[in-house]
Order: sequence, then C-alpha cells, then structure tokens
Amino acid sequence: MEHPENDQKYTGLTVNSGVAQPPSVNPYANKRPRRRPLPPASELVEGILKGELNALSRAVTLVESIAPDHYAIAQEVIEKCLPHSGHSRRIGITGVPGAGKSTSIDVFGLHVLRKGGKLAVLAIDPSSERTKGSILGDKTRMEKLSVQPGAFIRPSPSAGSLGGVARKTRETIVLCEAAGYDNIFVETVGVGQSETAVHSMVDFFLLIQIAGAGDELQGIKRGIMEMADGIVINKADGDNIGPAQLAQAQYRSALHLFPPTASGWQPEVLTYSGYYELGIGEVWDMIDRYFAFVDANGYFHRRRSEQARYWMYETIDEQLRNNFYNNPEISAALGAAEADVLANRRSSFAAATDVLARYWKLRQ
Ligand code: GDP
Repeated sequence: MEHPENDQKYTGLTVNSGVAQPPSVNPYANKRPRRRPLPPASELVEGILKGELNALSRAVTLVESIAPDHYAIAQEVIEKCLPHSGHSRRIGITGVPGAGKSTSIDVFGLHVLRKGGKLAVLAIDPSSERTKGSILGDKTRMEKLSVQPGAFIRPSPSAGSLGGVARKTRETIVLCEAAGYDNIFVETVGVGQSETAVHSMVDFFLLIQIAGAGDELQGIKRGIMEMADGIVINKADGDNIGPAQLAQAQYRSALHLFPPTASGWQPEVLTYSGYYELGIGEVWDMIDRYFAFVDANGYFHRRRSEQARYWMYETIDEQLRNNFYNNPEISAALGAAEADVLANRRSSFAAATDVLARYWKLRQ
C-alpha cells in the first residue's frame, strides 16, 4: 500500500517503501541436505577391493560412526574384506609430543613409498574425545606424505573409550589392507595406555625418543620400553649428535636388563634425524631385519593369531559394557545405587549385585 505521506498534498518528501523484515527463524534451518543414502555393503566392498579411495573413506567413516545402521553396514563390509586383509606390515609408532612423530612419519612414509607399495597412516589418540578431534594422523602434519597418491592418512577416531577407539582403528586396518595398503602405520602418543592398544594390533613397535629431555630413562614408562621392538633417538643432528649417541648407549644398556622378548628379537637402538633425513634408511633396514627374523621363526603368524583372539574378547567386552551402560533402565538403577553407596546406605558389593540382577532379568 502506498504510504499516506506520498499523497499529492505532501510535497518535498517521498517515503520509500520499506524492506520486508526477515523472518526471525532461518527458513533454511531445517532444510539442510539430507544425509547421503547409505551405500550397500557390496558396493563399498567392490570399491575397496579395487583400491578406490572414495569407497575406503566412506567405509572408514561408517566404522567410526556410532549410529547402529552404520555399524551394521560397517560390520558387513569388514567381514567381506577380511579374506583380503592381512597382507601388510603393521607398524606402531609412539613417542611423547614433540619427539618428532609427524616429521618422522612424513619421511619414513616417503621412504616406504619409494620402495613401492601403498601406505596408510592411522592413529589412536584417546585424548581426542576430550579435545574434540585428534591431531594425530592429521594430514596437515604430514605435508609431503599427504600429497602422495599412494598414501591414505586418517586421524584418530574420536568418539568413545580407548577400547572403542582402538577397535575402530583395528577394523580400519582390515579395510586398508583389503584396499591394497601393504604398509600400515599406527601412530599414538607415548604417554598413556594407548600404546598397549596399538601394540596389540601391530607387528613392529617403534619408540621415538629424543636426547636431552632430562634423564633419558626417567620420562618414559618402563612398560613402553618393554613393548618396543626398536628405539630410535630422533633429532641426531647438529649439536645434538653427541647427546643422541649418549642416549643411544644408555638405552642399549637399559635394554639388557629387560627379560628376553617373546619374539626372540633383540630390540635395537638407533639414532636418526627426521628433519634432516639422516639415518632413515638405517632405521628402515632394522625394521626389514625384524620382519625377516619373525617370518623365519614363525612368530609373525603366531602373534597375528594371538592378536585376533585378543580382539575377539576385546570386542565382546566392549559390546557387553555398551549394552549394559547404555540401557536406560540400568542407567537409572545405577544412579540410585551410586547414591546409596555414597551415602553409606549400602555396600558397593550389594549395590552392584542388585544392579546386575536387574540387568540379567531384563535380558531374560
Ligand atoms: P610430534 O609432536 O611427535 O608429532 O613432533 P613433530 O614432528 O611435530 O616435531 C616437533 C618439533 O621437533 C618440530 O618443531 C620439528 O620441526 C622438530 N623436529 C622434528 N624432527 C626433528 C629432527 O630430526 N631434528 C630437529 N632438529 N628437529 C626436529
């Protein structure tokens, strides 16, 4: 409607028509594109077996998802990929933040690719649950490797407990192997329990250390050293060569105090520089020697079978726990039981027995 002041009798001024107010609610808010329809498992498997990156990435996303329909498809894909998996060298790489993991993986990765084959870099970082998103296994940290067509880099799955995160990485290994990745690196931070999880899914465990970080053997947990098949002292360049060699000697003598390894392999200690790419070939020659050794004495296959058994029980444990704790009735009962225990009204044992009894009843 024309504004009354635009009438002929008002002169000198015109009133422009206004602009309609935008709605207070974004009209596009609920028009977000719908989720892409889930591809059938067979289509993903076909793509993975052809080595298609797109199919592999989508399948890994399903493995990482917590949605039950995704989980079901992912399990079907894994099952079908299993017969095509296993043909790789799985190498765990650990070290405290700043030890040079990403720098080293970048150059180790290029070294591996130069020899031919494909490489997947995965990661286990349980802290990513808290920090929302893992930095381990991040493409931006591995600049040279990330542009290589033969490299697949995937950060740590971020949702869930360490057990859950580790299972997802383990399942991703199966998918990568089926897609023809014959070298798998699994990176983790050498500060917590995640090394045990990584150790349980790799053939060779590499511990990256640095010299000059205080008393060499203090900072690192004895358990991690015991798991290592190779200890490599990074940053052996410039003024740091001397301290790196000293650290090497200290680690060597410390390793002699450890009991013999299950593989019969005597862990080696080497120095190198990831940044200046010195000694990379030597580190890799050691890893080659290890694989030749465990291939010859049968340990390689024995350990893989043991790991498969371990993961069967881990998966059962994880699913039982999820089933128990995600049950709404049990959650409510747990809340009440916890309050009773905290107020000293019941013993922990009696409260636990009660909640479990309820659970068994629900399952009947
Ligand atoms: P991460 O936290 O274990 O992944 O460690 P980074 O790879 O990010 O390295 C931490 C820091 O150490 C970076 O500033 C690197 O440039 C540096 N660095 C890594 N490798 C070497 C090396 O071989 N020599 C020297 N001098 N510095 C290095």
